[in-house]
Amino acid sequence: MSYSIKRAAVIGAGIMGAGIAAHLANADIPVLLLDIVPPDAAESTDRAARSRIAQSGLEKALKAKPASAFYTAKSARLVTVGNTVDDWETLGEVDLVVEAVIEQLDVKRDTFARLEPVRKSDAIVTSNTSGIPAAQMMAGRSDDFQRHFLITHFFNPVRFLKLLELVPGPQTDPELMRFMGQFATEKLGKGVVYCKDTPNFIGNRIGAYGFLVTLRHMLDEGYTIEEVDAILGPVMGRPRSAAFRTADLAGLDTFAHVVANLYANLPNDPQREIFKLPDFALEMVKRGWIGDKAGQGFYKRIRIDEGKQTLTLDPATLEYRPEQPAKFASIDAVKRNPDVYERIRGLVNSDDRAGKLAWELTADTLLYTAATTPEIADDLVNVDRAMRWGFNWEVGPFETWDALGVEATAKRMVAEGRTLPPLVEEVLGNGTGRFYVEEPQRSYWDFNTHAYTPVPPTGPTLSLAALHKSEKVVKSNGSASLLDMGEGVLCVEFHAKMNAIDADIIAMLNEAVTEGKKNWRAVVIGNDAPDFCVGANLFLVLMGAKSGAWDEIDRGTRALQDANMALKYSDVPVVVAPAGRTLGGGAEIVMHGQGVRAAVETYIGLVEVGAGVVPAGGGCKELLARWQTLTPEQGPFPAVRHSFETIAVATVATSAYDAMNYGFIRKNDAITWDRERLLADAKADALALVEAKDKGAWRKPEPQTFRLPGPGGRLVLEQVAEGLKLQGKASEHDVVVSSHLAYVLTGGNCSPLDVLSEQDILDLEREAFVELCKFEKTQERMAALLTTGKPLRN
Ligand code: NAD
Repeated sequence: MSYSIKRAAVIGAGIMGAGIAAHLANADIPVLLLDIVPPDAAESTDRAARSRIAQSGLEKALKAKPASAFYTAKSARLVTVGNTVDDWETLGEVDLVVEAVIEQLDVKRDTFARLEPVRKSDAIVTSNTSGIPAAQMMAGRSDDFQRHFLITHFFNPVRFLKLLELVPGPQTDPELMRFMGQFATEKLGKGVVYCKDTPNFIGNRIGAYGFLVTLRHMLDEGYTIEEVDAILGPVMGRPRSAAFRTADLAGLDTFAHVVANLYANLPNDPQREIFKLPDFALEMVKRGWIGDKAGQGFYKRIRIDEGKQTLTLDPATLEYRPEQPAKFASIDAVKRNPDVYERIRGLVNSDDRAGKLAWELTADTLLYTAATTPEIADDLVNVDRAMRWGFNWEVGPFETWDALGVEATAKRMVAEGRTLPPLVEEVLGNGTGRFYVEEPQRSYWDFNTHAYTPVPPTGPTLSLAALHKSEKVVKSNGSASLLDMGEGVLCVEFHAKMNAIDADIIAMLNEAVTEGKKNWRAVVIGNDAPDFCVGANLFLVLMGAKSGAWDEIDRGTRALQDANMALKYSDVPVVVAPAGRTLGGGAEIVMHGQGVRAAVETYIGLVEVGAGVVPAGGGCKELLARWQTLTPEQGPFPAVRHSFETIAVATVATSAYDAMNYGFIRKNDAITWDRERLLADAKADALALVEAKDKGAWRKPEPQTFRLPGPGGRLVLEQVAEGLKLQGKASEHDVVVSSHLAYVLTGGNCSPLDVLSEQDILDLEREAFVELCKFEKTQERMAALLTTGKPLRN
């Protein structure tokens, strides 16, 4: 049987259903989104009123915070809403139906029963249940329906969380499992984990256990919420939101459902009693203190005077008190170590309060995971992946165990009176004492065959940390390195604080072009950090401005311009690979790449006006050049206006696709959905350019020229800025910055007949930049960004 998905439907337009519909639309698949007819519209003939719930789900997905569930406004237009009465027959036209109704077995069963007679004979049906076994949902369905059915367990928010758990039912076609694995990986950019049909599958079973033992230790041993979050955060390779901020984000009500389901459905689990919320948490659910969506949970933000304050819940009194940041010597000792394994090792072997709790929680979680894995997964790789991709852990439980040393860890556990599960005993006796071995290739201990089996690949990945470890560093300074990516490709990696551009980064960019020409076939600029680059190092600019070092600021700006021009006109192909925040100077580096391979979650923008200046690393020039080629027949002004409108309000694209609409990335640049594949894809792009170059099918770009409107055009843009000021939408200094921007974009004092070079525009950018640095209000903006991280509207 061969499967394909050209059209889809989602039933249930709640937080998950709407999120899934949005993500399918992001993948260019038209989706029908259905929900029930609201009771007050049961008799109505007004179609819009009857489909109101689905419509509201769609609107919430569009406006979701911190970012829309959609990559672009255009993808949102691929979703059509309807209701489960009037539009039910239309389900017969789709290739995939995803059920995402409320978590009630009878409602899900009834949905599938109604779907059976209308679905297309080869349509795939999936459920997004958090934990109801497939076998129970499929009771009463035909064999054919069951062959086409599986569970697709997405995590919230669907757009951002990489994990997708796939769970077969009793009769699921194995070919369908394979197809969905491939579809989810390649089309939806998900990290697929295969689970057995057990309560709450892998991620939530282990994740819930981990959170519940944390609560128990916290209460028994008197830790505060802040102390736990300090311990279970980045220092242990967990996300910044640690335990309790993550719980507030996910919602304690949702968690309570998962916990209740686990308790009810795990009668034989030796640790069943842990699957109960402590009284204080039950009371929180009762009071509706369920987290961010209710405005309060374990933490609460309140307004005081001009600012905001965070309060923390005291579980003993259920009262909020001001947050008290936690500090531990053991954490301070390890937190700056970039090696996550060394941090974890250091912390669990410390004997202060943080070390003690870190060890207790690690020991409990590792033991429960090892005891449960054979029941919930085919292998331990899927468990490690579930925890990394669903919970943003840097390393999975079995990887952690290897890093701590299975033997040493087991000895300590036994000495403390804990019992080792059979899987650990087996590994201790297998001759290596490891869950994973690296030679001759990365393999895991397979508890089914009692032998090492190669880890199934997740697609091409390339980690710069691994290149550092295997001594592939060609050159390095304090802020950047050149790394050998193999096959003649040289990588420029930034590793400064927030990857802010300084002289060291610029030096390494220049070095890459010169060194690249001599000894390499291509250059990739990318890194493993969450944010590609937040822009120029403002501290240095501000210091220069405060001391009136205008020539120095001019020289520093020119250095970035020259480096970017060298990238653009490099003889060896240059591919830039941004991900995460790519702002100001970071965006300018991307815009000078001969090729771009962007992670879909790239937030790129020329945001310099927030710092009271204009883009001066070639950003104005490149945006003009792009719009000029897009609208050549309309004369110079539309390109100028587009560029002005984009830069003057510090537009930041909300995805790589959105970035294409603004011109930050070209339509023929490439996008990778799975961040882990980004650098491997960028390297492949670079090699493809090399091949094209060798065949004479690719050449470095030709220098561009510009015709710009001059002072006449500038006047028009200045009037726009004045108009915004009159409406209260722009401050006096916004108008000053805008008029400098207008000056650059319209070509300064040129005549519309002049032909300007790239260097002419670069000179204008620099002139405006230095002039703006002289304003006190610009310096205030820079200082505010440096101290608060937020732009100041002065
Ligand atoms: P939700 O309450 O936000 O939305 C459920 C939607 O289903 C509502 O809009 C409701 O009107 C609709 N609905 C109820 N009965 C229906 C019916 N008979 N036909 C059509 N629509 C119907 O819930 P949610 O959080 O979106 O959860 C949906 C499913 O996804 C549940 O099975 C849940 O366990 C699962 N899930 C939730 C999360 C999460 O974090 N919220 C994560 C993974 C899986």
